[in-house]
Amino acid sequence: MSLHSQGTAAAEITPDISEYAYIDTKPSLPPEANIELKQEPIAETKQAELKPDVKPKPESTTPSAVECIRVVEDFGHKTFVISGVRVHFPFQPYPSQLGMMNHMIRALNSAQNTMIESPTGSGKSLALLCAVLAWRQSFEAKHRQTLANVRQTIRRYSEHNSMSFVKQMLAAKHDDLFAQVPVSKEGSKHVDTLQSADSGNISDEALAEAWNQIIPGSQPLVKPDPEQQVVIDTTIASPMPKPDADITPIADASPVLLLNQALSYMRETVQFILDQAKATPPDGLTAADMDELRDYIQNAAQVKAIPRIYFGTRTHKQVSQLVNELRRKTPYRLRSAVLGSRAQTCINHQVKKSGSIDEECRKLVDDSMCGPHHIYRKLLAHKKLQRQGDLEIWDLEDIETLGRETRSCPYFAARDLSGTADLVFCPYNYILDPGVRGSAGVELEGNVVILDEAHNVENAARDSGSLEITDEQLHVVAAECRMMVDRGTLRMEHETVGTLASTLVNWLKDSDHPYEYLEFDTQTAVWPRSGESLDDLLERILLSPQFVAQLQKAVSVIEGYIKDVRSRKEKRRWDDENNLNRYKKGQLMEEEEDSRHLSTGSMRLLEQLLRVLGHLAPDSPFRQDYRVACIRKSKSQHMPEGVAASGPKYRPRKRRKIGPDLPASDCVNVLAFWALNPGVVFSEIASKARTIVLTSGTLSPLDSYASELQVKFSSTLEANHVIDSQRFRALAVECGTSGELLEGKYKNVDLLSFQDDLGNAIAEIVSRSPDGMLVFVPSYSLLAKLMARWKVTECLSEIEVHKRVFIEPQGGSKEEFDRLLTTYRDSLAKNRPASRQPALRGAIMFAVYRGKVSEGIDFSDYFCRTVVNIGIPYPAFKDVKVVLKRQYNDDRSTPNRDDPSQGVLLNGAKWYDIQAFRAINQALGRCLRHKMDWGVIIMLESRFAQRWNVERLSKWVRQYMGVYRTFDEAKLDLDAFYKARIKEDIDAGIDDSLANDILPACSSLGLSSPTTVAIHTVNSPLNT
Ligand code: SF4
Repeated sequence: MSLHSQGTAAAEITPDISEYAYIDTKPSLPPEANIELKQEPIAETKQAELKPDVKPKPESTTPSAVECIRVVEDFGHKTFVISGVRVHFPFQPYPSQLGMMNHMIRALNSAQNTMIESPTGSGKSLALLCAVLAWRQSFEAKHRQTLANVRQTIRRYSEHNSMSFVKQMLAAKHDDLFAQVPVSKEGSKHVDTLQSADSGNISDEALAEAWNQIIPGSQPLVKPDPEQQVVIDTTIASPMPKPDADITPIADASPVLLLNQALSYMRETVQFILDQAKATPPDGLTAADMDELRDYIQNAAQVKAIPRIYFGTRTHKQVSQLVNELRRKTPYRLRSAVLGSRAQTCINHQVKKSGSIDEECRKLVDDSMCGPHHIYRKLLAHKKLQRQGDLEIWDLEDIETLGRETRSCPYFAARDLSGTADLVFCPYNYILDPGVRGSAGVELEGNVVILDEAHNVENAARDSGSLEITDEQLHVVAAECRMMVDRGTLRMEHETVGTLASTLVNWLKDSDHPYEYLEFDTQTAVWPRSGESLDDLLERILLSPQFVAQLQKAVSVIEGYIKDVRSRKEKRRWDDENNLNRYKKGQLMEEEEDSRHLSTGSMRLLEQLLRVLGHLAPDSPFRQDYRVACIRKSKSQHMPEGVAASGPKYRPRKRRKIGPDLPASDCVNVLAFWALNPGVVFSEIASKARTIVLTSGTLSPLDSYASELQVKFSSTLEANHVIDSQRFRALAVECGTSGELLEGKYKNVDLLSFQDDLGNAIAEIVSRSPDGMLVFVPSYSLLAKLMARWKVTECLSEIEVHKRVFIEPQGGSKEEFDRLLTTYRDSLAKNRPASRQPALRGAIMFAVYRGKVSEGIDFSDYFCRTVVNIGIPYPAFKDVKVVLKRQYNDDRSTPNRDDPSQGVLLNGAKWYDIQAFRAINQALGRCLRHKMDWGVIIMLESRFAQRWNVERLSKWVRQYMGVYRTFDEAKLDLDAFYKARIKEDIDAGIDDSLANDILPACSSLGLSSPTTVAIHTVNSPLNT
């Protein structure tokens, strides 16, 4: 029986395991398996499962493939045992989803990093969520089993050996604490305590019994004997805990706190037993018991808790989609939280209207002036957010609504809730950016990090390691420091900081900088440069190691002072609220005066500066990875910090050429520290996290990630598209309609013959393609040139006969762009009565690679049947950061003889190439969004006749890419394909209403077709 067959209750289906098993040798996969398993197999060991936080050495034994995946039961949702973990899935998964889950669980079991590329529409997010949550549940059960075993051993020891009263108390304490760690019935229901795949149906009673074995009843195992006298046992080697003093009042303690405290007492007790043991095991224990205790102690220091899952994705919108998947489609229920921005969650109207929410909020919180902030903890205890509450799994919108109802701040509540959650969703800068990570309380040690939509991680990590400071920001710091010095508060410390700020302002203003990168409205000088090393420059601008040490000290003293002031303010507010104000009027004013300090914005800037300077310190491994720049740009180009481009108050000024005639007041000077190596921030994440999973629809080419991020990825998986290969075409055309090569190189794009050839080719395609069509070009300037030319030649009018034309705007607000998209979609929906010829209906959107259309927008079904790609979008060759990055990679592309431990990077040319192909892959992913979708990808670019260029495309495209020499040959193929697909839709009865209503619904549910909707409707737990 095939695994795809509908499972029956308690039925065990033995699939053709070559489809899914993760085995050493590359299996011969049937075409429908749609997964590719390659590179080093991840060794899964029993040890890894039982000692969860210890990174095990890979073992050569690989579990029998038969044990890898089986369907063991079916009650509402499907349940699979994948690599020893029971995974509940809302419906029959695609083979590629099974492949992903298998791959992911094996990486998690063995605490290794992995990369998964799977095209959009293949149900990637749901598969990842189910796999990681199932693994966590299984991990928790095993973890508890280990603890239960140790407890049983302690019980036996205490029954056969005389323990001092104090130690008995200790044993009793840990036992008491364990008894109070809450366990939800819902949580225990799916606990994988019976790991055998043969378990079949497990009744609730059996599970409850199993759970009880892990955390036995509430009676302490060792009861203190009231008769016994206190005997001080002087033989105890471990430090004696003060009885009671360090016990948190249990009624108020969180489960995490309770568990941690229980673990701590357990370690004490085990250590005591080990310390007492002589050559032979103590009475009641065996040698194996002693080994187990030793093992436990050896690893106990690392066993802090069950790993928390951080699930990061690119945008807040994508975070919401993930929360919805968890809530609506999976049976997993656990403490989850979402980290978001103030812009989304702030409920203070004045602050929201201000246009710079972060800054305003910081000011108010500093001055203890925001009411909702005072009572934000109210939200933490809200019953809706508790286990089995209506909002057990909540999104930012939910907590914002709840915040409004209770008038308490959702932003700070969400941050606190994430500190005790098992699963935290967030945009991935909360994980990558060390500053944001610190202030949001993201803890990576021993936890699992999943970065979805990770195709931009490399750039995002470089940005997170970099810092740019304007002279305006430095002015503010200098002025605030002056004020504090004048007031006589921490005079020496504020003078140190103020002197640095003033020195940097003066240096930035200096007009004699050796600017070497000159653009229209920007000029840049970069260090190190010939004649001046980075160290020389840092010395010159007061950033020598000696001064940095002084600065560090000063900042930490100021930080301590600010903390003190804040807690005084908080106390005073509390006193006020409780009518306990002990201050007389004059005293109060004096206190107010005393409470001035540097603003949060300035303190953040100083922290960021110190972090970067830490990387530039003489003993830092990253000191070669930075370039320091002094940038002068016209104000028209610079957007003030904290102001969104689409914000109500921001109006960009007219671009002005930089030069001697431009007054200084119209310029912004910037001190930049550019990290050229994403490993600066990523290697820290990798060293702390238990497992990192990078995943996206377009990670290809994968090989650059490991070298650029300086992290070992022990495995990678490239999944195929879930779409049948008959339902899409990928083709490249070498020559245009004139017979000339279509080569979109820089030297050709201004040739009118090239522009005309492109226009004619698009007009030909438009006259064949039904419904929606997207055309991507490398830059806005080329797009403008093409439009201007096609207007003159009337090619545009020809296109407009078939489709309504839309053009992606450069700049503009998000709202404007959303309106444009809605009009595009509306015109497609209105324009498709069945009577119209397919090619005469629809719309075409011209867009730019890396632009707004190219990422994060779903053009499923008739919203896009054809994607046309023009040229290869290499980054701007002369952009200063691109130039520096290329040089840097060239320098690092061969092993460093002085430091062989330093990793080797791709050379600059390769890195540059990869940026272009990643942008193409991203654009290609706009269409073909679910199994029943269909469409065509056309590359109007002769360079795709070369195999090495095709090889850089995502696997699901490259393996089906056909190359045509002439446009006429391509036309024949296109005609045949469109005709066959349209006929298929008509035969299948997919008329307008079906396409309008049912297909988008399928897509949003992650389902595959109208037929499967019916099946899933019956079985889905969503409908119960
Ligand atoms: S504390 Fe909360 S409610 Fe107050 S301004 Fe900040 S984000 Fe808004």
